[in-house]
Amino acid sequence: MLTLEGELRAAWNLGQFEPWFQPICRLGDGAVVGYEALIRWNHPQRGVLVPGDFLKIAEDCGLIETIDWCMFELSCERLRRHDLADTFMTINVSALHLRHVDFDQRLIELLERTGLPPSRLVVEVTEGALLDNPERVRATLERLRAAVIGAALDDFGTGYSSLSYLHSLPLRILKIDRAFVLELDKGANTSSTTVVAAVLALARALDIDVVAEGIETEFQYAALQAMGCDMGQGYWIGRPAPITRWLASGPVGA
Ligand code: C2E
Ligand code: MG
Ligand code: MG
Repeated sequence: MLTLEGELRAAWNLGQFEPWFQPICRLGDGAVVGYEALIRWNHPQRGVLVPGDFLKIAEDCGLIETIDWCMFELSCERLRRHDLADTFMTINVSALHLRHVDFDQRLIELLERTGLPPSRLVVEVTEGALLDNPERVRATLERLRAAVIGAALDDFGTGYSSLSYLHSLPLRILKIDRAFVLELDKGANTSSTTVVAAVLALARALDIDVVAEGIETEFQYAALQAMGCDMGQGYWIGRPAPITRWLASGPVGA
């Protein structure tokens, strides 16, 4: 029997990984304005596997970087081929990538190869990735910005969460973690409503767009819309198929 690591390597050789896409919509009118590319493993016996089933091991055995570069390329190619001219795409970049000083250069070359305009790409980094070496990450994001590639801070509020570094990072998007969105169900005047309102105000002051993650109910959607949140993603928005193999277009779930 193969270990999961062995299985991962075999899967890589057989091309079993591919990006799926979750629409990101403008809460005001429900229009799809972008997509997040999310890795999936088409396992021949176990079906479509999600990152929680294999990402940690792929990171530990050092395979994630190779797999990710292939994901980035496939994602960019698909977006370009789909030709939804005004939409952007976010890709998840693990902390390991940001240790390489040539990460930005490699990404720029990938865009040249695939023909996707850099302004349509946004790299998502987590607060954890920043902790590793904040100065190096900031410098990388600065170089990406100079190349018109955007940056998003993913899962905001779950990690180190220091507000002090926010203003020093060249961010285009802040993604509010779904834990806060979930809490909105408890109604107005909860601590979560206060946190979301404060994050929205801060982002506005810093001229950063906000995407709320994990919107699962109409109530959450309406609450975020009323609070002036720009964009969102989640099972409610993408229903009945929240994350798809192909790029969906048109207004969804509004
Ligand atoms: P993430 O970047 O925060 O992605 C959002 C996760 O929330 C996705 O899980 C998505 O399927 C899920 N989600 C979306 N809407 C909802 C909702 O309404 N409710 C709930 N409960 N969940 C929702 P997924 O696809 O399992 O990905 C998990 C994590 O794996 C991602 O979290 C990201 O950190 C990482 N990841 C995904 N794709 C890649 C990749 O290509 N490369 C790397 N290095 N990491 C990836
Ligand atoms: Mg993400
Ligand atoms: Mg996230």
